[in-house]
Amino acid sequence: MTEATAASTAPAPEKHGFQAEVRELLRLMIHSLYSHREIFLRELISNASDANDKLRFLALAQPDLLAGESELKIWIDFDAGKRTLSIRDNGIGMNREEAITHLGTIAKSGTADFFKRLTGDQQKDSQLIGQFGVGFYSAFIVAEEIEVYSRKAGEPAASGIRWASKADGEFTIEPAARDERGTMVVLHLKEEAKEFADSWRLRSLVRRYSDHIAFSVLMRKEGEASLDWEPANQGQALWTRPRSDLKDEEYKEFYQHIAHDFAEPLAWSHNKVEGKREYTSLLYVPGRAPFDLYQRDASRGLKLYVRRVFIMDDAEQFLPMYLRFFRGVLDSNDLPLNVSRELLQKDAEVEAMRAALTKRALDLLARIAKEEPEKYAMFWKEFGPVLKEGTGEDAANRDKILPLLRFASTHEESDEPKVTLADYVARIKTGQERIYYLISDSIAAARGSPYLETLRSKGIEVLLLADRVDEWMMGYAREFEGKRFKDVARGDLELGTLEDAADKTASEEAVKENKKLLKRIKDALDERVSEVKVSSRLADSPAVLVLDEGDMGAQMRRILAATGQAVPEAKPKIEINVGHPLIKRLDATTAEDEFGELALLVYDQAKLAESGVVANPGEFVRRLNKLLGQLMAPG
Ligand code: ADP
Ligand code: MG
Repeated sequence: MTEATAASTAPAPEKHGFQAEVRELLRLMIHSLYSHREIFLRELISNASDANDKLRFLALAQPDLLAGESELKIWIDFDAGKRTLSIRDNGIGMNREEAITHLGTIAKSGTADFFKRLTGDQQKDSQLIGQFGVGFYSAFIVAEEIEVYSRKAGEPAASGIRWASKADGEFTIEPAARDERGTMVVLHLKEEAKEFADSWRLRSLVRRYSDHIAFSVLMRKEGEASLDWEPANQGQALWTRPRSDLKDEEYKEFYQHIAHDFAEPLAWSHNKVEGKREYTSLLYVPGRAPFDLYQRDASRGLKLYVRRVFIMDDAEQFLPMYLRFFRGVLDSNDLPLNVSRELLQKDAEVEAMRAALTKRALDLLARIAKEEPEKYAMFWKEFGPVLKEGTGEDAANRDKILPLLRFASTHEESDEPKVTLADYVARIKTGQERIYYLISDSIAAARGSPYLETLRSKGIEVLLLADRVDEWMMGYAREFEGKRFKDVARGDLELGTLEDAADKTASEEAVKENKKLLKRIKDALDERVSEVKVSSRLADSPAVLVLDEGDMGAQMRRILAATGQAVPEAKPKIEINVGHPLIKRLDATTAEDEFGELALLVYDQAKLAESGVVANPGEFVRRLNKLLGQLMAPG
């Protein structure tokens, strides 16, 4: 039996403890959101608006739920003398069990992860809390006590409840008969927050944060005593208004309302589609990544309306996974009002809208990239790795996605990803048929990599990648403007005409001359490598490991290993630089055991450069020290 059901027979009021996460959130919010405290009003109006939306939706099937008051509204009232402020709606309401769970726990996915990321640094944490979304609990920033009165739509007056808390770790709940349907939240304001019990202040906040919600927010006409109520907002859903009437400020505020974000959106696209299919969409690119961007079960998608009636949050079917960071609204004139998630999944109309919205979203990104490169750089920093997923996920739009990618490069001083594929192709060498790239742990590590040596000496540009998705992405990227992508750590470099005749003859000769050495190294390294070759990639390093085109690279192997999956064995080739002193020394070594030690040392450092790890670090260090000892020995 749960605490809640056990309690329903007990006398009232009874005490409940908040979930530990709620207690933590309350403590943090009260301390770190002080400079944003007015957002509580946006959150409470937003909850009232959600409650009205939910009731309107349920009433489609059960019209008598609206009995008594069919017009859905929100009322704000205050009493400066008593320092109280109330927000009331006539929406769906909450019964006892719902109040206990909804106002005592946090249901969001990734909550535990969020709390792990808090640092104790107020500034950083307040940023994080902003991204997490504070909701109802934010009212405790301004209130020393909160009472919630509620009665669920369709239930009798006697089923009403009163919930109350002083944010001291617990809340009480008790029966409280209510004639009115819906919820009233009463804030007992802290002394230092009494400014909010003021008509002018409240009206300006309502206009700022809630002008565009679809319900009237009513306030008393002349201050506190009047019996006449008047709207304090426009009460018209923002997306239904013509673009030309809307100011940037209004778009930004609407974004903050739907995304519960403190920060401004980076850009938006508002469109009305007419004809065979009719719908309005408003898509936003947020200014920063939410805390749960990489959580598979995080909520994503658009707010779905059908002919202005709210249907659901997080309608995921209208944008692909790799555009999950978009926020916004979709209002369809054609979908049935009783559309469900299941229906959305197989509907051809939805499929067509998804294709159009995906295109629109990518066009919006392309427009920012072209017109506001600095903004695009901010976007790329926050969401670049997510957009990269599209290269593999969305073959149909790959041609639109590739130009949106940004890379670090050997031809740029800075490690910031700035280079586009078009930049690369524009300055490609005559005769160069490949777009070269290298994947490493970090851009700095990539810059120091031995795989770049020959290419660098020939002045060939190499794109440098270091995001987790990169190996996966490049496996799908294939080509850009007719030039194939080529991983410089795999297979043959395919230099084509960039390799001159002299290079070729030299390397053919080197192979002939070093046949015996190659065989000795292969014997010494045995199963570690599939083949020993003379390298054409190297200038300064003695050796590198080279994978075949189809082999799994170091990054994918690491990711698989980290998730506990079996990692397929890939046996690399080792390429040696026959001009390097260490290899010359190896060639001159006659004692077989010394040869073996040196060969392993060469192998291990090549392995280190490839994947950042060696099989046996202790052995590696011992061999290295032995060699250093010999070098330092007198004589
Ligand atoms: P969110 O709105 O993101 O779900 P909140 O913390 O704002 O989170 O609210 C928590 C829950 O409390 C809501 O999901 C809803 O179920 C319930 N709730 C809050 N305010 C109201 C209200 N005015 N009417 C009905 N339910 C409400
Ligand atoms: Mg809310």
